[in-house]
Amino acid sequence: QQQQHNLLKPIMSVNANDVDSSLLLNDYHHIDQQLLQNILYDSLVWSSLHGLLVAHKSVQSSGSVPGVGLVHAPISLLPTQFPESHWRQASELAPIFNELVDCVSLDGKFLQESLSRTKKADKFTSRLLDIHSKMLEMNKKEDIRLGLHRSDYMLDEQTKSLLQVELNTISSSFAGLGSLVSELHRSVLSHYGQIIGLNSEKVPANSAASQYAEALAKAWTEFNQPRAVILFVVQAEERNMYDQHILSVSLRERYPFLIFNSDYNTKGQKDVLAFGKILSFLSLVHILVAGNFPQLYNTHGITTIRKTLAEVDQEGELLPDGTLLVDGQRIAVIYFRAGYTPADYPSESEWRARLLMEQSSAVKCPSISYHLVGSKKIQQELAKPNVLERFLDNKDDIGNLRKCFAGLWSLDDSDIVRKAIERPDLFVMKPQREGGGNNIYGDAVRETLQNLQKAGSQEDAAYILMQRLFPKISAAILIQNGSLHKENTISELGIYSTYLRNKDKVILNNQSGYLMRTKVSSSDEGGVAAGFAVLDSVYLT
Ligand code: ADP
Ligand code: MG
Ligand code: MG
Repeated sequence: QQQQHNLLKPIMSVNANDVDSSLLLNDYHHIDQQLLQNILYDSLVWSSLHGLLVAHKSVQSSGSVPGVGLVHAPISLLPTQFPESHWRQASELAPIFNELVDCVSLDGKFLQESLSRTKKADKFTSRLLDIHSKMLEMNKKEDIRLGLHRSDYMLDEQTKSLLQVELNTISSSFAGLGSLVSELHRSVLSHYGQIIGLNSEKVPANSAASQYAEALAKAWTEFNQPRAVILFVVQAEERNMYDQHILSVSLRERYPFLIFNSDYNTKGQKDVLAFGKILSFLSLVHILVAGNFPQLYNTHGITTIRKTLAEVDQEGELLPDGTLLVDGQRIAVIYFRAGYTPADYPSESEWRARLLMEQSSAVKCPSISYHLVGSKKIQQELAKPNVLERFLDNKDDIGNLRKCFAGLWSLDDSDIVRKAIERPDLFVMKPQREGGGNNIYGDAVRETLQNLQKAGSQEDAAYILMQRLFPKISAAILIQNGSLHKENTISELGIYSTYLRNKDKVILNNQSGYLMRTKVSSSDEGGVAAGFAVLDSVYLT
């Protein structure tokens, strides 16, 4: 499935006359053409030099051999406007969602019961639930729990409210590249901002990459086996590999500021470089004099290895004490960047690998429970009245979460199914899938619902219905394959979060940077990897 997706598919054009320009958010379309070309050129140079890159599909080995067939990531030329109040609202929800995921993950019965009908209709969910049941039977406990989530939102124009699209608990992508896009936009605006009338300070600093790396490193530290490594479970072909390598290189690096030196809340590049040089020198002194002090500088010195699920099946071994060895190496943390889609499990071998890892004592990001909590069905169950109250005590937290819930329904609600057949444009129909390109929109919602009704089977339990959100349209400039496209677009804001606990001790519970994704307004789906959207950042208004 991932292979079918085209990272660089040219974005469809919409007719500019469709949109009343007084309703537009940004109006970037009227910027002088030569100026746009200059910004484009500088952005392409910046992207190439800083690793804001993906593998190009035209080069066969580019998805497996790093350094081959690179192209800049699909990006927005300039950041998209977003109200600061809603930005803060989304950021403040992050630690509450972290806590919610953790609490729900501990209620095995709730997960099994909520997904019991889905299990009959959806083979993939059923296989995940089988692993989950086995863990319940074994009474398997996960003392160290690591969550690297991304909660996605749209600012619905009709209700003027920030509404959650979904919560990703597995393989939340673009922490690496997303941080770079924010940095690129700040750099572009610090140079061209005055001419365009934009201030680089309005693009919030984005430390998603360093915070994700730090959370993985802290989980490794809690595991407390100095020789153990972090396992990245990956797809064999991965055109988004640089996003992942940003994390693994950041984990490995012992010498601060030799790379990624400007990824923090800093104003001018010059200060950062000077500061970086001094710190690099000091750390070198430390390393020479007294070994190293990675923690002092937020550097980690941790080895990561990359394996596919099939390789884990071949090379993995579980010792009687629960230790997971892969290729002879002891694993401290398993970070899944694969395993979220049925396409990642072409044979029994991959399922064996998933089970083997789940049985081990390694920290899993995510555990099978965390993975299931992120399913669309659980999102819908949590939105029912009085369900949040089962998991959270704080009334304000509950109220704040609920405010961002859009309409979500199970298909056994016949009133809603009838409404959706009448007005399919107001709904999105979602199966239990991740990675973009799986949802059903428009007339296809009607057809699918009618077919399910005719068949009268349990198949409807594979889906949920969601209120369709309509964000404000912007006049944006998207860059793909080195060229500009002026488009009318809508955007989706993702807020990264990190959560780490060891038994009762909560070590991390933070908002951890953001990702804006922007797509042509006429396109239903939104994934960047799926080829529908570009990476963007936020311009606070
Ligand atoms: P996935 O896990 O595959 O990313 P999502 O629920 O995020 O699934 O849906 C994929 C894309 O579809 C989103 O990025 C968004 O662009 C679009 N989408 C999803 N839900 C809605 C909705 N309720 N209203 C409008 N667009 C939606
Ligand atoms: Mg998702
Ligand atoms: Mg999504």
